[in-house]
Amino acid sequence: MAITHNLGFPRIGGQRELKFALEAYWAGRQTEQELAITAADLRRRHWQQQAGLDYAPIGEFSLYDQVLDMSVTLGNLPARAKDKEGSELDAYFRAARGRGANDSPCCATAAGEMTKWFDTNYHYIVPELHANTQFELNPERLLAQLAEAREQGVNAKPVIIGPITYLWLGKTSDGSHRLDLLERLLPVYSQLLEALVDAGAEWVQIDEPALVTDLDANWRYAFNLAYHQLKANRPKLLLATYFGELRDNLQLACELPVAGLHIDAVSAPAEVSRVADWLPSHKVLSLGVINGRNIWKSDLNSILEWLEPLSEKLADRLWLAPSCSLLHVPVDLDREQELDAEIRSWLAFSVQKLDELSTLAKALNEGRASVRAELAANQRAIDSRRKSDRVINPEVRRAIAAVTQELGNRQSPYPQRIARQRQILSLPAFPTTTIGSFPQTPEIRQARLQFRKGELSNTQYTKQMQAEIARCIEEQEKLGLDVLVHGEPERNDMVEYFGEQLEGYAFTRFGWVQSYGSRCVKPPILFGDIRRPTAMTVDWIRFAQSLTDKPVKGMLTGPVTILNWSFVRDDQPRKDSCLQLALAIREEVQDLEKAGVNIIQIDEAALREGLPLRQSDWATYLDWAINSFRIAANGVDDSTQIHTHMCYSEFNDIIEAIAHMDADVITIETSRSDMELLDAFRNFEYPNDIGPGVYDIHSPNIPDKQHIINLMTLAAERIPAERLWINPDCGLKTRKWEEVTPALETMVAAAQALRA
Ligand code: GLN
Ligand code: ZN
Repeated sequence: MAITHNLGFPRIGGQRELKFALEAYWAGRQTEQELAITAADLRRRHWQQQAGLDYAPIGEFSLYDQVLDMSVTLGNLPARAKDKEGSELDAYFRAARGRGANDSPCCATAAGEMTKWFDTNYHYIVPELHANTQFELNPERLLAQLAEAREQGVNAKPVIIGPITYLWLGKTSDGSHRLDLLERLLPVYSQLLEALVDAGAEWVQIDEPALVTDLDANWRYAFNLAYHQLKANRPKLLLATYFGELRDNLQLACELPVAGLHIDAVSAPAEVSRVADWLPSHKVLSLGVINGRNIWKSDLNSILEWLEPLSEKLADRLWLAPSCSLLHVPVDLDREQELDAEIRSWLAFSVQKLDELSTLAKALNEGRASVRAELAANQRAIDSRRKSDRVINPEVRRAIAAVTQELGNRQSPYPQRIARQRQILSLPAFPTTTIGSFPQTPEIRQARLQFRKGELSNTQYTKQMQAEIARCIEEQEKLGLDVLVHGEPERNDMVEYFGEQLEGYAFTRFGWVQSYGSRCVKPPILFGDIRRPTAMTVDWIRFAQSLTDKPVKGMLTGPVTILNWSFVRDDQPRKDSCLQLALAIREEVQDLEKAGVNIIQIDEAALREGLPLRQSDWATYLDWAINSFRIAANGVDDSTQIHTHMCYSEFNDIIEAIAHMDADVITIETSRSDMELLDAFRNFEYPNDIGPGVYDIHSPNIPDKQHIINLMTLAAERIPAERLWINPDCGLKTRKWEEVTPALETMVAAAQALRA
């Protein structure tokens, strides 16, 4: 009998109920109790949606973040969040989001650091550790959810983050080694496991995705130590790994003294039989056979082909699950009534993925005949997608086949290009610019909504956006900026905006996925070959340029970022999809150039986050990613200046690849690091122009002129002054004009002082 279970269910709610409840609570419009009721309703609904499974997860439901929850469970909430007024919940949210002195005079608190959860677009709150960290069990939240689930008749399997991954996710502030805390941490885990058994749990899922990363001997040793100590506890442990291959940790994972092991059979198909061979015969093997990271229907018949013999061999020891928590996919496809019916028939969201799981289990347990209709319907959907001429476009295929290395090369090297560009643009020293967007006012959002609903005609909408662009240009001229932007009022989102205009993309109405806290993203679905039917940005930029004699930057999103922020095809490598996107962006770049745009910025905000989990895979990724950027960007004349932008600050390990992009100018986020990150550029002798962000736009505070001058002086110690630009960090669209105008005034004044 194959057993079915789930590793985690999306908690935000099919209509983002949790988001709205959280935001209402934070704004003081809802009480703690009202928030608790919404949360309990969601849990109840989600368990009902998982009723077909043998075990449903509990405890993965979180009001903000499952890692922060684990910190609470282990008594490791930062002291600065705890020692203040208000309830425990307030302390929890203070740790998560921070509080400013203005809106919370009693309780100003710096937010916890946030970083990406492995290679997903989910962000967790980094556990704060130091040599004296003390842990103390605080199991109330988990026990309450367990009791709640059991009361509702749910066969509940608590989910916790394992001790090694918990430490691996954390950061020490004092240079001590995280693993030094293990000895102090393990007794608390033991108490937790005992408390869960006492409360009725038979199995506990203990997540250790750190096992799919590069681990040195200390970390491996820690795994052994930890699990040998925890085996004295009573619950059966299902050790869960996901997001990648175990590789050199495979034997370790198989041999740890636990009752079961979950592996991600989608990202590590080749390891399934090796694990099945290695795993001691008393252990359960849970296979993540349904992709928890994408939205495609699984090919059930072909999964059964390899699963059936394995099921015979493993018999009762086989469990089936999605590859990872379903946190990373939307809730329910049934809501998507506006989606094209053919494309919809190819998709599966969380609820549908669990149906697929049940079908597979039934086929294994009772024979394929017992689910003949389901399997046949699945086969029809798979075939329809495979054969659809909306997926394969021969014209695109021919263009891809014709791509050569030369396509990614500029005509001349940077020194020659920049000389010509300087002549044409005749900009002052330390030219000033911004990263692209200007405040997205309520009026802009309103207009976009009305346009979408058909309440504004195309002409009316265009007029309104043009008025907004005119305002941006006027403000920038008044400020005395050197290179202007149109302000991006027409863009809801830097990926969606392009996806909507490209063939090969589909959009959902409710396909929300949690990014962090109450923030969600709705990744577009890349389903077919990418073609650009018509220019996407040229009219807006041309209009903006018509209003001023100063140069206006064309503003595009790069192929790697579009790819990394989409649900991508699983019928071709990501690299191939990226190249198609690159060709489409290249056409846009060339159209902008033809329209007389001298400067074109291509944002690659998400280039770094696409880095694979294993360092040994980095080179391959960077190779095709940078190649795609080069193809998108470099089909222009020497006189056209290409800018790129990246919104993070870690460049040390990818600086060579960044240099190979060969953008004439790169703008980066630096204001919070005192220009230290420019060390990477200096050490590498990065050859092209750089615009380090000189003030942090995340704060409403107006930057100080002298501070900017000091920062630029620091920058000039690392990069020759004639190659430096002055710009803020990215994200002006999230600020108000009242904040942006004085901040940029100060920035321009600092530039003038520097020139003098
Ligand atoms: N051009 C975009 C903007 O200014 C860049 C956004 C980003 O880097 N995330 O909003
Ligand atoms: Zn950015």
